[in-house]
Amino acid sequence: MDTFAKVELTQDLVESSFPLADLNTLLTSLSDYFEVPITLVTVIEGQWQHLIARHGILADRTPEQDAFCKSLIKHNKSLLVPDTALDENYANNPLVTGEPYIRSYLGVPFRLDGKPIGGVCLIDTKPKNYAERDVHLLETISGLITNILELQKNYSLYLEDQELIRFSPIVLIKWKYNNGLRIRTVSPNIERVIGIDAFHLCSGELHFEDLLTEPSVEKFHFNLQNHLDGLEASEILLEMALDSKQIWIRMITVAHFNHDGRMTSIQAFITENTAQKYTEDKLNETNRQMRLLLEASELGTWDWNIPADINKVNKKWCDMLGIEFEYVETSVNYFRQLIHPADRSHVERDLAKHLQGLTDAYTTSYRMKHADGHWVWIETYGKVVERDNSGRALRLAGTHRDITYRMEAQLQERKQKQLLSFISKAQSAYLKTGDLSKSCREILEELIDIADSQFALIGELEYTAGVPRLFIHAISEMQWNDLSSQLVQRYYDNDLYFTDFNNLFGSVILTGKTVISNERGKHPASKGTPKGHPRISKFLGLPIKLNGELVGMIGLANKFFDYTEEDAKFLQPLVDSLAGLYYAVKLDKERQEAENKLLELAMTDTLSGLPNRRAFMEKAAEVGEISFPYLIGMVDIDNFKSINDTYGHDAGDKAIKLIAYTIKDALRSDDFTARMGGEEFAFVLLDATHGSSSALIETIRESISNLEITLSEEEKIHLTVSIGVKAVLPEMEKMSITAHLNDADKALYEAKHTGKNKVVWFE
Ligand code: GH3
Ligand code: MG
Ligand code: MG
Repeated sequence: MDTFAKVELTQDLVESSFPLADLNTLLTSLSDYFEVPITLVTVIEGQWQHLIARHGILADRTPEQDAFCKSLIKHNKSLLVPDTALDENYANNPLVTGEPYIRSYLGVPFRLDGKPIGGVCLIDTKPKNYAERDVHLLETISGLITNILELQKNYSLYLEDQELIRFSPIVLIKWKYNNGLRIRTVSPNIERVIGIDAFHLCSGELHFEDLLTEPSVEKFHFNLQNHLDGLEASEILLEMALDSKQIWIRMITVAHFNHDGRMTSIQAFITENTAQKYTEDKLNETNRQMRLLLEASELGTWDWNIPADINKVNKKWCDMLGIEFEYVETSVNYFRQLIHPADRSHVERDLAKHLQGLTDAYTTSYRMKHADGHWVWIETYGKVVERDNSGRALRLAGTHRDITYRMEAQLQERKQKQLLSFISKAQSAYLKTGDLSKSCREILEELIDIADSQFALIGELEYTAGVPRLFIHAISEMQWNDLSSQLVQRYYDNDLYFTDFNNLFGSVILTGKTVISNERGKHPASKGTPKGHPRISKFLGLPIKLNGELVGMIGLANKFFDYTEEDAKFLQPLVDSLAGLYYAVKLDKERQEAENKLLELAMTDTLSGLPNRRAFMEKAAEVGEISFPYLIGMVDIDNFKSINDTYGHDAGDKAIKLIAYTIKDALRSDDFTARMGGEEFAFVLLDATHGSSSALIETIRESISNLEITLSEEEKIHLTVSIGVKAVLPEMEKMSITAHLNDADKALYEAKHTGKNKVVWFE
């Protein structure tokens, strides 16, 4: 024990600051053994002799000047006075002449660390002698008392240490080593400092390594190996993965070895926050170096103290945005409002992600407003450099780089590519579907995006009876009020037209020129918007022309910046390709119309206006595939040759037309008939059987025979027809139309040969 501790011990002994009850019991036993009434342990301190343990006396101190044990201290050896009355040194001592009337005295020095500070003594009120071995015994006991007191003192120091540790930020862990580490003691402050239960660690329920991240477990084992190899002290940084957080700890380890050099234990001193301090130190150092570097480079720097909302920037940062360094504001809101509105949401999103710890770095690009009003593309790279215990970001620092030049080139290129890609998308969509409106709708969103606008429309000019109207192929969401819901429906039905051209987009139609309006209400054609429609503040109208002739237009509105001639030029490829598509549609329409005409011609009998044989065969084949039962019939005019011969060919033609009309008129709308050639007709009655339709066929025959065919004022003739019919039933599914027609023809043949002007059914 060092001197400091000793002084303290004497003080403590005097003040009895720790329990001496056991010592008093020992003294009682000594009194019994030596048969003396008084036994004491005394310590001299200043003016007093303190009776730190006593038996047979009540006082706890006596003046130093009378103390017998002064001699013990002075000579550092025992003192025996068998009879004070006979000893001149003590005969007049107040303790002899008065209380407690000492007649005999045996004292041995009471030492601390080998130095006498008081005594252990036996006192009697009668003369008493002691043997040499009694003196030895008492000396041995004095030595033991010293040991006890020292142990007690150490224990109380230990308790004080524990108390100190309890409030200290340093956690102590001691491992015993015997072919493996076993935790021996853990200071209780580990709960407070790191948040781990000391008991679980001590009981072995939890291993220290369990608390570490994988790489740190390796580090820890490496450190252990070093100690095993003889390293006495070391310091390592370890990362702990606790339930609630990740923390870094700094750990100083001291190994203890036995006499033959084997490691027996390791004592560790652990502090948390060290890592933070460590990074901070490092960061400060790197920051200092970096700042020097940055000042010389093209980088602006910023350093945001989040809770205080102070963002410090350097001069370069200010230069980039044309802000005077001396007057720059430090609130983050000031910086936020400099960011381009179109970029704000992704900036905030990237920032939030990083603050939450989801990304390694906060890196993004955005536009910021220069003091001149133009936009500067900024690339920022930042990192949280400080977090609180709960992981909340406290400080975020980073750099700014002006990448305007790069971005503008890139943006232009990207936009050009995007434009070309959606043009080809529109073209291929049109080729696939043939639906131009659909193709236009598909590219509308991209058009809005690429033109930085809020609204867009694509229209095609049409003329009805010489009056122009704009057919709307595609338009941005139009649900601006109840009235417009009708328009929306018409839009979805591909039937929306704009006819009023007394407005901005109308002026494109009327002038056939590009219209740019950037100030609301300033353009002569600016007439506002329908009620409830989002206001149009800026407008760009692009005419679509084909061979110099206006065929449609593109309208764009509410770009964030002003529309320029550049925008019009940039979009020209789209305008041209729409013109191309309109042309293709027009060609397609014309071609379709011509084809339809030809087809109609090819399918119609010109004399009667009825479908011809080819048309009949095609249609009947379709019927034959889908519906049973049906009737198929052949009609032939009786003795027609003689009409021609008698009245001429024109009269014959007139008769053919009339009869054709009469047959067609008698049929239901789903049934059909055709002129098969000459004076022969065929018909199909759908969903019909002999039973259901023989009356109808009979009627046809009869009404023809009743026809009065007027050739001239004096000449009126009558004609009859013969009809052969076949009832086609489901079981005849496999037979062809030609076969059915042959059968009907056979029946017709029979009608001719059995008297004409009759209907014969094929059996
Ligand atoms: P049936 O049928 O009763 O046995 O006697 P038919 O006199 O009607 O004999 P067939 O059917 O063989 O005669 C057909 C005649 O119809 C021949 C031709 O002069 C006449 N014909 C055919 N096509 C036309 C036409 O387009 N116009 C006119 N005017 N006559 C035609
Ligand atoms: Mg005939
Ligand atoms: Mg004929």
